[in-house]
Amino acid sequence: MHGLMMDTPLLTPSLIVYAADYHGDTEVVSRSVEGPIHRYSYREAYARIQRLANALTRLGVREGDRVATMAWNGYRHFELYFAISGIGAICHTINPRLFHEQITYIVNHAEDRFIFADITFVELLESLQVRLGAVEGYVIMTDAAHMPETTLPDAMCYETLLEREAEEFAWPALDENTASALCYTSGTTGRPKGALYSHRSTVLHSLSVCTVDNAIALSSRVTVLPAVPMFHVHAWGIPYAAPASGAKLVLPGARLDGESLYELLEDERVTHTAGVPTVWLGLLDYLRESGNKLNHLEDLLVGGAAAPLSLIREFEEDHGVNIVHAWGMTEMSPVGTTGRLKRKFESLSPEARREIKRKQGRAIYGVELKIVDDRGTRLPHDGKSVGQLMVRGPWIARAYYKDPDATAAAFDDEGWFATGDVVNIDPEGHVQITDRAKDLIKSGGEWISSIDLENAAAGHPDLAEAAVIAIAHPKWGERPLLVAVPRKGAQPTGAAVVDFLRDKVAKWWLPDDVVFVDELPHTATGKVSKLKLRERFAGYKLPTE
Ligand code: ADP
Repeated sequence: MHGLMMDTPLLTPSLIVYAADYHGDTEVVSRSVEGPIHRYSYREAYARIQRLANALTRLGVREGDRVATMAWNGYRHFELYFAISGIGAICHTINPRLFHEQITYIVNHAEDRFIFADITFVELLESLQVRLGAVEGYVIMTDAAHMPETTLPDAMCYETLLEREAEEFAWPALDENTASALCYTSGTTGRPKGALYSHRSTVLHSLSVCTVDNAIALSSRVTVLPAVPMFHVHAWGIPYAAPASGAKLVLPGARLDGESLYELLEDERVTHTAGVPTVWLGLLDYLRESGNKLNHLEDLLVGGAAAPLSLIREFEEDHGVNIVHAWGMTEMSPVGTTGRLKRKFESLSPEARREIKRKQGRAIYGVELKIVDDRGTRLPHDGKSVGQLMVRGPWIARAYYKDPDATAAAFDDEGWFATGDVVNIDPEGHVQITDRAKDLIKSGGEWISSIDLENAAAGHPDLAEAAVIAIAHPKWGERPLLVAVPRKGAQPTGAAVVDFLRDKVAKWWLPDDVVFVDELPHTATGKVSKLKLRERFAGYKLPTE
């Protein structure tokens, strides 16, 4: 027997319609690419979203078409999210930090018909344009006064397109399973693969992200600043979740350096923020050097890569900010686990609490987790058994877009997705990522976790950044090499770094060598590129050989 409840489809325009109706005067503040701070209300945003939907229709965009964006976190990008999906087309957010060959690959693979780009990316697109086969038109996201000279064929101006359109648009009654957006993985683990989100998955993920334990605790009392780019898994869903909750939204544009972020966090009295560790380490550097304190920030979500203990400690002790460590993936919309502490742990000592917080958190409602060994056998959640993490849930991909080979490799017969992350789960449900499967170091038949070593090294006062890779070793198979960037002005020695690690990791985990470099290679999402690092140190001879 079916229930007798309305079968109203979950569609993304409903999120912004809600904000316009019930939080109409709440602000969306953006640091514009042109320079000044731009502010308007959800009501005004919605009026422009309807103009944009009319403009897209006039351009000939039809249901199912892919329309790409190459843009920073700003109000025009926010408008595109809703207008493109709302008319039934698919918003493909391109990560401009990908290598040029990868951008060409994904634009052609997605068969994007139009690309909307910030002025910052015009030159990049000009250099790639001849290779972007199916693209019929480029729209520059600015006004007539800032329109750049460009060789892009028939480049259009965003504001000019909107000017002549009406402020009303009748959204089509789409099936909630209609595709709404497309995002490619950054290729940390190979060729980029497309995750194709639906209206339903996006709305469900948004509602989940608003809740207190599940992610970032959004509400109409909150001001949220996504410091993770909108071209990287929808800034972790915040541009959708903020209007759904009535939170004030602050979009930082192109500037994610410590000083620029600090300015916005203070001026706009931001209470909640989210981003990758690299961004937060930059903010901490700035705060240390300037002596400034964070006066309004309450909650900081950190994820995308492991958050070092030292980062958690410094934000908590020096700035009174609650750190929530989270884990997710492009294929998961992206939130999978978050680490808001259960009440029963509040009485623990600060150090004991942080030992829990440095783990990647518990599954959020809606996400099922299991760990399996090489043969696919389930392992217990005892905090000790280590295996590959598999996930299932309503906002997790069930296949890659037009990529049967990648799909066959990552999804099993029961519908579980293999994350490629190697983890343990404790009886409380806390997940601890020990590595990505291919980054583990196998020494004498036993695994060494590169993440654990990196986290320990990150606590060294003279090191700005550290990465560990496996180097072939005639006796042990593989041994760890630590590649580190010294902090400005510091001159650490390899021996001192190894000494520092002695009481933090098992003796046989200690790196066989430490190499200092000026800079580590990063991927398009700000993670250390182990792929590049392995290439650079291919054939490296360890002194222990
Ligand atoms: P890509 O796969 O291209 O690197 P994603 O953003 O989808 O881009 O990366 C997801 C991966 O990032 C996860 O599978 C995991 O390896 C890593 N990751 C995400 N959050 C964390 C975290 N809090 N700690 C450790 N690793 C993380």
